[in-house]
Amino acid sequence: MNSALLQVKDLQVTVGEERKVLLDGVNLTVNPGEVHVLMGHNGAGKSTLMSALMGDPRYTVTRGQILFRGQDVTHEPADVRARLGMFLSFQTPEEIPGITLENFLRTAQGAVTGQPVKVMAFRHELARQMQALQIDPAYADRYLNVGFSGGEKKKSEMLQLLMLKPKLALLDETDSGLDVDAVKTVAAGVRAYHNADNALLIITHNAKILEGLTVDYVHVLDDARIVRTGSGALVTEILQEGFASVKGDAAK
Ligand code: ADP
Ligand code: MG
Repeated sequence: MNSALLQVKDLQVTVGEERKVLLDGVNLTVNPGEVHVLMGHNGAGKSTLMSALMGDPRYTVTRGQILFRGQDVTHEPADVRARLGMFLSFQTPEEIPGITLENFLRTAQGAVTGQPVKVMAFRHELARQMQALQIDPAYADRYLNVGFSGGEKKKSEMLQLLMLKPKLALLDETDSGLDVDAVKTVAAGVRAYHNADNALLIITHNAKILEGLTVDYVHVLDDARIVRTGSGALVTEILQEGFASVKGDAAK
């Protein structure tokens, strides 16, 4: 029996009718309890990788495989992946007029667990997590992300993470555009979420969101492939020296 949470094997991803190759030969294994960081310059393909992992229909897998908890999900739609325990926090969270934050979370929880949501317990947990993330309780009745500031949108993504408790959290620049206090709150949310049974794959250009987490692996994506994998120390090296310094002894 395979104990890896996520296995990506020789993944090639293309977009559009002309089949422009955005990812080519990506390999990645994430085990329960691990924290992985994905770095790379703008346009390297980081968001594409996360979207493809989540089953975004804009992208086509033209080679390779994605296994999640031992199951081949390469061609499964996003809702199947979400039910299995995958979660993607977007770089730019969407505004959804007409659906309140609370209703969205309740519907999502029901959909992900396949169980009817126990309303009282849900509301209690929601209030608790909103307090932990320092979100005004009144926001539960506001339309999802509509008129939220950048920081509030990111906190609303963290709230989803804490309420839905996925097995694998893919965080795409959840810390971008946040002030120092908001980054601290988001980092605290990430720490509260993480345990020995779940795992994180985090795209970031900033070490603050990683505070208090032990980073197991750092992957550098460049030109459609992972060119370097190293330990957590690579984050500091990249932030100080830039990407050029770490690409030297590229992928084997
Ligand atoms: P990153 O997140 O690392 O900054 P992206 O994954 O967003 O990079 O983009 C990688 C490359 O793929 C970019 O050149 C981008 O323009 C291209 N790309 C991403 N999505 C699409 C799409 N839907 N259609 C066409 N090109 C795309
Ligand atoms: Mg991106």
